[in-house]
Amino acid sequence: MMTNNIFLKILSGEIPAKIVYEDDICVAFHDVNPQAPVHLLIIPRKVIRTHADIVPEDAPLLGHIHTVAAKLAKELGLNAGYRLVLNCDEQAGQTVPHLHFHLLGGRNMAWPPG
Ligand code: AMP
Repeated sequence: MMTNNIFLKILSGEIPAKIVYEDDICVAFHDVNPQAPVHLLIIPRKVIRTHADIVPEDAPLLGHIHTVAAKLAKELGLNAGYRLVLNCDEQAGQTVPHLHFHLLGGRNMAWPPG
């Protein structure tokens, strides 16, 4: 289990982030390399390396994160739509080994994804 990745450092306050929302379960902050006019990352405080490591007990946490994502999307005015992305492991492009959802919006998006 990696315990020193960049998101754990953001959770502990060791390095700064532009935090837009936080509670006991999750934290949302601006991606440092935004891929859309709005690009937030929403991460659980619980250490979960990736989507494949999710266990049934995580269901409330995951439901909560989705509720927070919908609330933030509304607050940020993403009324025309948005995309919630989760990259699981290497082939999907996951670079930080702590579960995170990308909330992207503010422009038209292509499909299929790259
Ligand atoms: P992924 O490639 O799905 O693992 O996404 C990791 C994301 O974390 C990328 O979009 C990075 O731009 C972002 N990122 C990396 N370091 C930081 C940081 N210190 N603050 C905010 N976002 C970061």
